[in-house]
Amino acid sequence: MPTARIFGKSSLEAQRETARLAALERLDILDSPKDEGFERIVRLIKEIFTVDIGIVSLIDAHRQWYKACSGFAIEEMPRQDTFCRRVIECEDAIIIQDTTKDSYFSAHPAVTGPDHVRFYAGMPLKTRDGFTVGTVCAIDRRPRSFSSRDVVILQELAGACMDRIELLESAATDSLTGAMTRRAFKKEAEQFISLARRHQHDLSCIALDIDHFKNVNDSYGHAVGDQVLKAVVAACKATLRAGDLLGRLGGEEFAIILPHVDRQDAIAVAEKVRERVAALEIPSEHGIIKVTASFGITSLSIVGKEIETLLAQADAAMYQAKHAGRNRCMSWNTVQADHPTGARRRVLKAGAIIFNNRRSTMDCTIRTLGSDSAGLAVSNAIGIPPEFVLAIKGEGFETNCKVIAHDRQHLEVAFA
Ligand code: GH3
Ligand code: MG
Ligand code: MG
Repeated sequence: MPTARIFGKSSLEAQRETARLAALERLDILDSPKDEGFERIVRLIKEIFTVDIGIVSLIDAHRQWYKACSGFAIEEMPRQDTFCRRVIECEDAIIIQDTTKDSYFSAHPAVTGPDHVRFYAGMPLKTRDGFTVGTVCAIDRRPRSFSSRDVVILQELAGACMDRIELLESAATDSLTGAMTRRAFKKEAEQFISLARRHQHDLSCIALDIDHFKNVNDSYGHAVGDQVLKAVVAACKATLRAGDLLGRLGGEEFAIILPHVDRQDAIAVAEKVRERVAALEIPSEHGIIKVTASFGITSLSIVGKEIETLLAQADAAMYQAKHAGRNRCMSWNTVQADHPTGARRRVLKAGAIIFNNRRSTMDCTIRTLGSDSAGLAVSNAIGIPPEFVLAIKGEGFETNCKVIAHDRQHLEVAFA
């Protein structure tokens, strides 16, 4: 059983942050695929204000994630290192015409270091119910002024971003690959699951993630990466039946629902998809490109009867497959045999990883949570010991944890 105890009063700030994260979770946009609409907005920011960098970002518990970024090759940044955390704290626009003259930012490494940031304008991205979930920013390497008209323009661009976020909520297919969007996939999967439960049919869920995909982008460019994504989806579709569901849940992460398929057969399907992906020969101007993917498989059961739980289980199994060397399939029940843990749900909560006799802490975002285990996202898993204390901020909950699998930015933990 986890050892839960109160560790201080949950402050108003922590409660506000909990509600903010819940609002962000409802948008379901974190780690979603690239979208040309947001790319256009960041290009517009650069053109309109003649600045070096335009950004649209979402901010979760531990990081700023760039939905789109022009002029700066980065995908995310630890929250504590960002300028935008101030926008989240103030829930208002922040304009700094010359960072070297600003008492708060002048000593920031982005100002003193090679990034040479001099001008920063950050506008909050606010949901209809008033939560600041992210920012729209204009950044420059020279000091500059920003008129009240400029402020209005940036505000309108932030409004256009929120409009687009809402519009995307209703999209059914991902424009790059033709797979279902995360939201549409989950909605349809829920219906399949309730049918399966009502009629006591089998149903299985597979999570798959392309291995070392970042290397493909880094070595051959984003456009080639996009071709790989299309090819992988085509390979999945060629193996699956017409009635199966295939969704793109993140950049290079997909999920499959197989109605009327039990665990054993689902493992066979995953194995077939795995072989097909590994056999792909994707032509590019750099020659033939080959990729592999890792798979996690789970089935409807007493502890897995909701889509969020199935996805969390399949995800946990998939991370085990990564951990075991990639390009393989791993079933939730075998993961269970080694590290028995109960049902988990996907969540978005602020956590702290406490170690080194409580002398060190690291912020994390809790992505899945059960009564005896959790899945955590961190900026960098290096340096986190195999056992630590996990605290859920604002909930007065602490428990000892043991790492059962990890990759660069994810930790699967069992509560000790
Ligand atoms: P692992 O084997 O552990 O999964 O490693 P990885 O490199 O695949 O995983 P990581 O999460 O580090 O990198 C995923 C990359 O996917 C980073 C991101 O740039 C890229 N990506 C996300 N969406 C898109 C997209 O729409 N197009 C392209 N080309 N790349 C994308
Ligand atoms: Mg990957
Ligand atoms: Mg991934």
